Amino acid sequence: MPNVGAMHWSLDTLDSVSLWRPSEPPLGAIVAATTRLGGVSAAPFEALNLGKSTADDPAAVEENRRRVLAALGIPDGRLATAGQVHGTRVTEVHTPGLHVETDALVTREPALALAVSGADCLPLLAVAPGAVAAAHSGWRGTAAGMPAEVVRALLALSKASPIDVRVYLGPCIGSCCYHVGEDVAARFPAEAVIRDDAGIRVDLAGAARRQVEALGVPRAAIVDPPACTSHHPEWCYSHRRDHGRTGRLWGVVALDPDARLRRDGAV
Ligand SMILES: [Zn+2]
Repeated sequence: MPNVGAMHWSLDTLDSVSLWRPSEPPLGAIVAATTRLGGVSAAPFEALNLGKSTADDPAAVEENRRRVLAALGIPDGRLATAGQVHGTRVTEVHTPGLHVETDALVTREPALALAVSGADCLPLLAVAPGAVAAAHSGWRGTAAGMPAEVVRALLALSKASPIDVRVYLGPCIGSCCYHVGEDVAARFPAEAVIRDDAGIRVDLAGAARRQVEALGVPRAAIVDPPACTSHHPEWCYSHRRDHGRTGRLWGVVALDPDARLRRDGAV
């Protein structure tokens, strides 16, 4: 459970869109995790579905994406996404668009929004002075070390110290709901596996947090997920709960657009 007074996510409505933002926003960066509230998609994708890989109306997804980016103050045409293949590759990006064959993006480009999508998988967002990163980390990615890989890549690119990094774990399926078989449990460290009368469950976010802490990022600089996706149909899509017919949430991070304006001398 989060400590009292610790950094946490706060649910806000910006324009029509409801999303989680950090209680203490990081200096020079925009960080958000979306909910399903505030979009135009019809059932079973209602309402703020951001996933193009779903069977939703592409025009609705496009409008939903536009709303989220506008609410966050991201300029048009400045969205970078990842192909998300459940691997551990991290890709440095300089340009908008879909970057295939990767699950994590890292950049030093101001005002380039990195977005990862999911519906139970963990979206991990990380901020260092002068660089940001976003990773899609489901059970395969987390078991294979994606949370550590993406923070390592961020440290290398920014040359920051781990104590200057903040990590935001977005909404994912919680240890309350994430029942797995022995085959999946065996891929995780024992401390991330819960065995009781209810069966075997994995703590995806806890496993990710421990990987990041092991790199020297302080516990207090790691923000826990705002919600279990499976538990909260009012806020979250859940691939498991909805048997695959559902939308996708986003984790979004960007270096503040104003930083680019300042760099270009426009302000
Ligand atoms: Zn749950």
